[in-house]
Amino acid sequence: MKLLIAEDDKTSRLILQSVCKKWGYDVECVEDGQAAWDLMQGKDAPSLMIIDWEMPRMNGVEFCQRISDKFQQNPPYIILLTSRNETQDIVEGLRAGANDYIAKPFNNDELKVRIAVGQRMIELQNKLNATLQKLTELASIDVLTGQLNRRAIMESLTKEIRRTERQKNVQRPEQILCIGMCDIDHFKNINDTYGHLVGDVVLKEVTVRIQDALRVNDSLGRFGGEEFLVITPVDEVDNATAVYQRICHTVAEQPIAVNGFSISVTISCGVTSYVADNDGLKLETLIARADEALYQAKDEGRNRVVLKLFED
Ligand code: GH3
Ligand code: MG
Ligand code: MG
Ligand code: MG
Repeated sequence: MKLLIAEDDKTSRLILQSVCKKWGYDVECVEDGQAAWDLMQGKDAPSLMIIDWEMPRMNGVEFCQRISDKFQQNPPYIILLTSRNETQDIVEGLRAGANDYIAKPFNNDELKVRIAVGQRMIELQNKLNATLQKLTELASIDVLTGQLNRRAIMESLTKEIRRTERQKNVQRPEQILCIGMCDIDHFKNINDTYGHLVGDVVLKEVTVRIQDALRVNDSLGRFGGEEFLVITPVDEVDNATAVYQRICHTVAEQPIAVNGFSISVTISCGVTSYVADNDGLKLETLIARADEALYQAKDEGRNRVVLKLFED
């Protein structure tokens, strides 16, 4: 594990460096607080450190304060090195954000175990963060299809709307945010004819086909059941229509082979647009309009795209 040592006193620095290296740490030494702070701005900054209290340019306590402000999510473990022994001083150091302190002159055995405690804390913190990240990912993924679930795709939509709004403010060429509600046609029949498990396989394959029809900046999520929400930011509405037509085509092109059956599947898409000028257009209104377009596509015979723009 990387270990940062910030100590202005040369003798003490060399001793620290030598013992810590001997204990297996990947040691980096600096001579003042500012240099330590600069080092913490880089990638792969150390997460375990011994910081002297009295140092030129930036003292240890100020360093701790700055670190606590900046690294709130994933703080490093700081052992403050001090020749001060008054309770008040120790309180000040810990309050500033140090995790532990050790008095100079230090005892090697004590320093070794205190660093080891820090290492354990950092390893634990890394494990917790990894678990948290994994959970966050899991919470946004639909288990059956592996695509974003409803909550996550709605979050993406909110972000896309904000992005479109920001672009309006910087007077860039107008971006049109189109969304499409895409629903598999007569899916109930597939379940009724072949059973739910086959239905699941069909659902997964349809998802793969929709994904194949998308461009890099488009997003796909399972909105519910056999219904998908697709987000397509475009320069012209025609480009969005082309994407949804490609979705219909890609889904219908080849029957899906499951358990020796060859199942023909089609999908209908209701598409609408959010234009940056539509101040205050609510998310629900946008989804409702895509739904209306979808119902119309179903009414008109399915396996098709219906576009309902804001002005319609
Ligand atoms: P329409 O063309 O009007 O959309 O007809 P439809 O049959 O597709 O629509 P309906 O809403 O009547 O039926 C949807 C079916 O989708 C019913 C439901 O059991 C099925 N379904 C929803 N989620 C799943 C799933 O995860 N797996 C399977 N196998 N079926 C699902
Ligand atoms: Mg000093
Ligand atoms: Mg359906
Ligand atoms: Mg449906």
